[in-house]
Amino acid sequence: MQINELFGQGKTVFSCEVFPPKATSPVDTIYKTLDGLKEIRPDYISVTFGAGGSAVNQSTREIAGIIQKQYGIPAVAHLTCVNYGREEVAGLLAGLRADGIDNVLALRGDRNPDLPPKTDFQYASQLIRFIRERDSQVGISAACYPEGHPESASMMDDVRHLKEKVDAGAQRLVSQLFFDNNDFFEFLEKARIAGITVPIQAGIMPVLNRKSIERMVSLCGASLPRKLTRILSRYGDHPEAMREAGIAYAIDQISDLIAGGVDGIHLYTMNNPDVARRIADSIASIRAV
Ligand code: FAD
Repeated sequence: MQINELFGQGKTVFSCEVFPPKATSPVDTIYKTLDGLKEIRPDYISVTFGAGGSAVNQSTREIAGIIQKQYGIPAVAHLTCVNYGREEVAGLLAGLRADGIDNVLALRGDRNPDLPPKTDFQYASQLIRFIRERDSQVGISAACYPEGHPESASMMDDVRHLKEKVDAGAQRLVSQLFFDNNDFFEFLEKARIAGITVPIQAGIMPVLNRKSIERMVSLCGASLPRKLTRILSRYGDHPEAMREAGIAYAIDQISDLIAGGVDGIHLYTMNNPDVARRIADSIASIRAV
């Protein structure tokens, strides 16, 4: 099933993202996550692709296959290219297609300082073109950045490069996490002005823990609005209160995005189905309007 068919059906698309558990986690960890996510019936589940070299106990391909075959939910497999050559990417794609995976999120990937990048693909747009040339049927998503990608010289440059990804064959976009909806709405306006007409899903990460969000923000460059820094400083040392305030913040963010007409919400679940369920339940009637 093509993920594109989900958009424009009168309901805001709601998807969840999971990652393959680390090699040190029990092998059935992912089943616990997926059992919980199944109950909230997301429109699709995407599976991240580990940065080159990271040890996981199940691959993106295997988990995407489990999501589709055992849980009956459409799966999107992330696919990065910075550490792979053309033949390797072709092999990864063929493996996914052989397992019935119809949709990929095509990414450059983050550079790993311990793993020299390969030279076949410098940017995600090249990967997208490569995939599209080999396979006219596979659904292709790409990443976008409401506050600009950290490496880009300017927001204008980043949006120009985003258009290149769409021109190369990306049929929908999924955003990096952000905490200020104004950033997303301003980005959306720039993207539409640049002629990007494909659906754009807003990526939302619930803030449950001060340390982890500070680490995440330092990696991806997302800014923290005052409303959120106040929450972090008041509840950051109180895990239960922080969790509740973080869930409430995410629900508030999502309600406002849906009111603003967003195409879809992509929830970074961090493999935490309980939090995903709390959020999904709270927005169920909101996203149906
Ligand atoms: P690109 O689109 O190639 O952009 C990278 C940078 O290059 C940008 O600054 C862009 O402006 C610039 N650029 C693009 N084209 C040109 C050009 N022609 N000339 C000059 N500059 C150019 N990483 C993982 O490793 N695994 C995952 O599973 C994963 N999932 C993700 C899911 C989402 C929704 C998002 C938002 C990110 C994800 N990432 C993942 C992180 C992603 O790999 C990094 O953000 C990476 O640094 C950029 O990937 P990209 O596909 O956006 O790159």
